[in-house]
Amino acid sequence: ILEVEHLSKRFGGLVAVKDIGFTLKPGEILGLIGPNGSGKSTVMKLVMGIERPNTGKVVIDGTDVAGWPTAKIAHQGIGIVFQHSRPLHRQTVLENIKLALLPDSLLRLVADPSVEERARAIAKRVGLEAVLDRLPSTLPFADLRRIEMAKALAREPKVVLVDEPFAGLTPREVADFSALIHGFREEGRAVLLVDHNVKSVAALVDRALAMYLGEKIAEGTAEQVTRNERVREVYMGGE
Ligand code: ATP
Ligand code: MG
Repeated sequence: ILEVEHLSKRFGGLVAVKDIGFTLKPGEILGLIGPNGSGKSTVMKLVMGIERPNTGKVVIDGTDVAGWPTAKIAHQGIGIVFQHSRPLHRQTVLENIKLALLPDSLLRLVADPSVEERARAIAKRVGLEAVLDRLPSTLPFADLRRIEMAKALAREPKVVLVDEPFAGLTPREVADFSALIHGFREEGRAVLLVDHNVKSVAALVDRALAMYLGEKIAEGTAEQVTRNERVREVYMGGE
């Protein structure tokens, strides 16, 4: 469903991503692991077309979309949950989700009852049903991340990119979000799950790819990656 090959990105003299490749099948979760600055978010942005790769392919269902505009890539079936949420602060939770459903036709949005229904259904799926009429600024951090999840799901993507979904959450919220991501797999979506630590996603991922300073240093099952010499060397110092 998604094949990424030889992906590289330079920012000036800095090589942020160097020759990264992986494949994702429907219902599969791949953990993309690495300490700060290893290039994880950049990989996601390259896949989503938010940054243009210097080299490499991003093939979705046989079509290479590398360098395409983000909206077209979204249309091909990729959704992204950003590391930092940025809802529209003057719109309620429900309105934010509705906008993600129909970003380019605001007028229909007001009138079409099916949009309202779909937005409510998505809100329920991510656990926002109790706060639909609130403004994002009045909500706790975890709910802002739920809004991001809802927006990513709005177009029913085949592939979901999730950037550090567990950072800053309570254990209970982590359990909630794990269940949600597990649900993506049950629905047959492929998931690229970014985290600092392979242990915190080990129960969730089918495979993991560890990065350091833009390069792949290990790949395999979560257990194989956890035990890898290079990974231990790089991660043991800092965390
Ligand atoms: P974190 O765990 O902190 O989120 P990360 O693995 O997601 O880190 P990236 O955000 O992908 O890392 O950054 C990789 C490297 O690229 C870093 O050195 C970062 O400073 C640099 N970088 C990222 N985006 C840009 C940009 N737009 N311009 C210049 N440098 C950038
Ligand atoms: Mg990041």
